[in-house]
Amino acid sequence: MIEVTERKDVWPVCPHCEEELEGIHYEQLRGKFFRRFVYFCSHCHKVLGVSERKSFWVS
Ligand SMILES: [Zn+2]
Repeated sequence: MIEVTERKDVWPVCPHCEEELEGIHYEQLRGKFFRRFVYFCSHCHKVLGVSERKSFWVS
C-alpha cells in the first residue's frame, strides 16, 4: 500500500520548467468519439497529462 500524505506547505512543480504550479490549465479536446482534457503548465504550456475526465489523471 502506498501511503498518501496531504501536503499544504509545498506546491507541485512542473517537471519541464520547474516552476511551481499555481494552477493547472486545461483544454478540452473534442472528437467525434472522444472527449479528453489536456492539462498543461500555466508557465511553459507543456502538457502534464491527459485525462478522460476533469478530475482524474492518466499519464
Ligand atoms: Zn512548466
